[in-house]
Amino acid sequence: MTNVKVKEEFRQMIVDGGNTMVSQGMTVGTWGNLSIRDTETGLIYIKPSGMPYHEITQNDVVVMNSSFEVIWGHRKPSIEFNLHISIMNARKDVHTVIHTHPIYSSAFAVTGLEIPGISEDFVQIVGDKVINCAYSLPGTPELARNVVEGLGDRNAVLIPNHGTVCVGADMESALKISHVVEKSAHIYILAKIIGTPQVISDEDMDAMQFFARNYYGQGK
Ligand code: 13P
Ligand code: ZN
Repeated sequence: MTNVKVKEEFRQMIVDGGNTMVSQGMTVGTWGNLSIRDTETGLIYIKPSGMPYHEITQNDVVVMNSSFEVIWGHRKPSIEFNLHISIMNARKDVHTVIHTHPIYSSAFAVTGLEIPGISEDFVQIVGDKVINCAYSLPGTPELARNVVEGLGDRNAVLIPNHGTVCVGADMESALKISHVVEKSAHIYILAKIIGTPQVISDEDMDAMQFFARNYYGQGK
């Protein structure tokens, strides 16, 4: 553990991000997990396993490397460390991974249905749709492989009978993506009750993604 540059600001982002997940109703209890990569050192900061989010402090955060080794911290890392690090290794554009157990998205995860692109915010930042990856048990290397494959180049994937995995370039965008996925799942279910949800055309999805990438927001 010598010569390791562990940064307080990244440990704090895991603490704050976890509390945001809970306050947004994205998970309950100790479930779900999150990680962030420091692009300067390549180190990955991850939530400790099985601890209530409100009890986690900076000292409970675990720091790992891209070879799945713990290099700092006294806690056991999240059982899903394989999943987090495998995504970071596969997706160089991703520096935050958030795994949640939210209600409406989980309705899709237990039925095997995909969440289609029905809302502007969703198609702009998540992808054309969110599919289910292949089933496997929590915390296994097999689940990590299935999630990486199911995620592809989208920013979210469903884990059958379990929850979601959302990714982003940083903590703020990954949290936003998690929120938008859950919101879209909620809207779709409500829309099915009152009518027929209309899926956005491929052409319009492309146009909205291009706009979001190149023009939306300040300073672009
Ligand atoms: P951890 O508490 O080990 O992060 O596990 C929670 C979970 O959601 C497993 O899929
Ligand atoms: Zn889980």
